[in-house]
Amino acid sequence: MDHSPPQRRGVVLILSSPSGAGKTTLTRMLLQDRDLDLTLSISVTTRPRRSSEVDGIHYRFINERQFVAMRNASELLEWAEVHGNFYGTPRAPVEAVLAQGRDCLFDIDYQGAQQVREKMGTDTVTVFVLPPSMKELRARLERRAEDSAEVIERRLENARKEIARWKDYDYVIVNDDLQRSFEDLIAILRAERQRRPRREHGIAAFVDRLLSE
Ligand code: 5GP
Repeated sequence: MDHSPPQRRGVVLILSSPSGAGKTTLTRMLLQDRDLDLTLSISVTTRPRRSSEVDGIHYRFINERQFVAMRNASELLEWAEVHGNFYGTPRAPVEAVLAQGRDCLFDIDYQGAQQVREKMGTDTVTVFVLPPSMKELRARLERRAEDSAEVIERRLENARKEIARWKDYDYVIVNDDLQRSFEDLIAILRAERQRRPRREHGIAAFVDRLLSE
């Protein structure tokens, strides 16, 4: 009898939150945990690069002409305008990861989450990360000190609109303790990996073999 683990469909794991709620840190923690074997979808954006960011790792930084060309060529799985800049998810890398039955992590906003769910259906799992308070959100944005005061104000204003979208999500995490939030995310991922529809194909073959023993 073949005891190799049954195949499954990859999880399309979307994290959304207003900037400053800790989502970027949580994303990094998830990616650093090798056992989780998550691949980050690297977005393209027309936003200027921050000094801490590396092209090709945090984003692919492109100009508006390049963005429009990608969008018109249907190379983007989803796209949105956020804080006056364009952001989009290149389709091909995501499809390559999922074709291997592996999971893909997305750090995108609610507009993107909605579009991905429309296209990827039940493979999509969405998590909204809330800040513990607006005061803490402002403090985190100011501590980061990478955006101008004007940009911070715009992001705070936007945060209120984004937070109002929490009901569109499958899971909601209040990030008042980073380690705890990280563990909650791992729990969500592990449970979602075991969902029957995601493993239907592999389990059916497994059960056939099991019952023929
Ligand atoms: P930031 O400029 O702080 O890196 O990101 C601003 C917002 O854009 C964040 O909420 C982030 O999740 C979202 N975002 C980043 N990449 C994408 C993308 O490819 N698509 C969409 N829809 N949103 C994105």
